[in-house]
Amino acid sequence: LLEIVGITKSFGATQVLKTCTLAVDPSETVVVIGPSGSGKSTLLRCVNLLETVDSGDIFFEGENITRARRTAHLLRRQIGMVFQNFELFAHLSAVENVMLAPVKILGISRADAHDIAADLLLKVQIPEKADAFPDELSGGQQQRVAIARALAMRPKLMLYDEPTSALDPEMIREVIDVMATLSAEGMTSIVVTHEMGFARRAADRIVFMEHGEIIESAPSDRFFGGTVNDRTQRFLDQIL
Ligand code: ATP
Ligand code: MG
Repeated sequence: LLEIVGITKSFGATQVLKTCTLAVDPSETVVVIGPSGSGKSTLLRCVNLLETVDSGDIFFEGENITRARRTAHLLRRQIGMVFQNFELFAHLSAVENVMLAPVKILGISRADAHDIAADLLLKVQIPEKADAFPDELSGGQQQRVAIARALAMRPKLMLYDEPTSALDPEMIREVIDVMATLSAEGMTSIVVTHEMGFARRAADRIVFMEHGEIIESAPSDRFFGGTVNDRTQRFLDQIL
């Protein structure tokens, strides 16, 4: 579904991505771990064309999207993104947050969009919060609305950037449950997270990044079987 081939990215004199290569198959869930500043967010932002790469190529469904600036908005409809800080529209209720893109971008009627949004809020297990505003929701509930909002565009790929790191521990579980269910249902996903519980449950592959490089990309069973690269192990010793 997605193929990242030798991409590099610098900000000024700092090289943030150094020849990163990664392929993601349909229905695969890839978890990306690595220290702060290693380039994880930048990698996701390049996939979503929020950043332009300096060199290398990115293919989505076989099509080279690397320099598709003109059609970036079309691509982004097919890729859902969930951020650490939810980024919901504060002046819209939960159901309106989810309805917005289908109505504005896809031109779906409000009635149909409302039905779709209600189904998605059920899917993320907060149907009773449809009319609540973001400031009336817990962090975990807000993040589940954000996931529902991304799903409303029927994306082919979901990108999550540390979706639980702003949450209190008791809310992490409910967000992870939703993400793991989506993965189990076959949603192709790239998840930047240090929640190794999620990785164990849902990841097909674990990628370790350091200083802008993909140091390791291991199938889950091998990763959790204990044979990882020394640098990956050192990082795991720090976070676990
Ligand atoms: P974290 O775990 O803290 O989120 P990360 O692995 O997501 O870190 P990135 O956010 O991708 O790391 O950042 C990688 C490097 O690129 C950092 O050194 C950061 O300061 C730098 N960087 C990121 N975005 C920009 C930008 N827009 N301009 C300049 N430097 C940037
Ligand atoms: Mg980041």
